Amino acid sequence: VAKAQGRNNFQFFSAEMNRNALDRLNTENHLQSALQNNEFELHVQPVVDCVSGEVVSVEALLRWRQPDLGLIPPSQFIPIAEENGLIHDIGRWVLAEACRLHQYWVDAGMAPLPIAVNVSAVQFRRGDFADMVAAVLADSGMPAACLQLELTETVMLTASERNLAEIHRLKAMGIGLSLDDFGTGYSSLSYLNRLPLDKLKIDRSFVSDMIADPADMAITRAIVSLGGTLGLQVIAEGVEHEEELKALQEIGCAEAQGYLISRPLQAHEFSNWFREFQATPWSQG
Ligand code: C2E
Ligand code: MG
Ligand code: MG
Ligand code: MG
Repeated sequence: VAKAQGRNNFQFFSAEMNRNALDRLNTENHLQSALQNNEFELHVQPVVDCVSGEVVSVEALLRWRQPDLGLIPPSQFIPIAEENGLIHDIGRWVLAEACRLHQYWVDAGMAPLPIAVNVSAVQFRRGDFADMVAAVLADSGMPAACLQLELTETVMLTASERNLAEIHRLKAMGIGLSLDDFGTGYSSLSYLNRLPLDKLKIDRSFVSDMIADPADMAITRAIVSLGGTLGLQVIAEGVEHEEELKALQEIGCAEAQGYLISRPLQAHEFSNWFREFQATPWSQG
């Protein structure tokens, strides 16, 4: 019996599963020391006004430059950080780094752009999120109006009364609030009324298929219309093609973000990109 079990176990841990488990263990170990080893980088992706073509804000996107494993995208480590609680320290670092970037733009004489920071639902669970944000803003001196927080429907779904109070407090501080990946969640639309949101971000999955698939076009149109009715600014994510941008302009979508405009860039790359872009905006090109 033991032998049979042994063999079964061996089969169960197939080579690939074994590697995945090892990868994960490896990632988790490395992640513990990533902050103190300064391995995180904040990349930024511009968001433009669909009509004027002006850059209206940037989204901060976290990257992990692990010496052995290379540049790791957030999808591969944020879920682990959410599970082991590291997301709290990482989230604070992201916010502080966004503030530092803002100060760098001010010092360099660049027009400081509002900066959007992604927030995980787990960050709300401890109940000290708004305090943390207030403290980081106070330390850095960045005006609250320059910060936008991107929440997901998961935040809305799991929000306690206390969390809702925190969200209202963030809004009262003057911070902008966006709902990210809109349309992909499972929750009802009723929270749109309960939350002091400023923006809706249409999920990339709708935008990338809107030209080929009439259903995705209809959903995109409906979200833009809903945003208009509720007084929310709508941003289309994942705009990769000229046709998508044209269609978004036609249906009255306010803002766009995606590889067509720019990929996420390192901070210094972004400064160069922004200088060139201001000299020749795409609306004139
Ligand atoms: P998100 O907030 O919805 O960010 C947009 C994602 O779409 C980014 O992926 C961005 O690189 C990608 N993207 C932008 N334009 C295009 C496009 O035209 N085509 C395609 N194919 N992709 C595009 P990224 O950087 O890998 O981030 C993935 C997700 O990880 C983010 O989705 C966000 O939910 C999460 N994330 C990123 N940074 C942070 C962070 O600092 N904290 C937390 N909690 N989550 C983060
Ligand atoms: Mg986002
Ligand atoms: Mg999104
Ligand atoms: Mg997301």
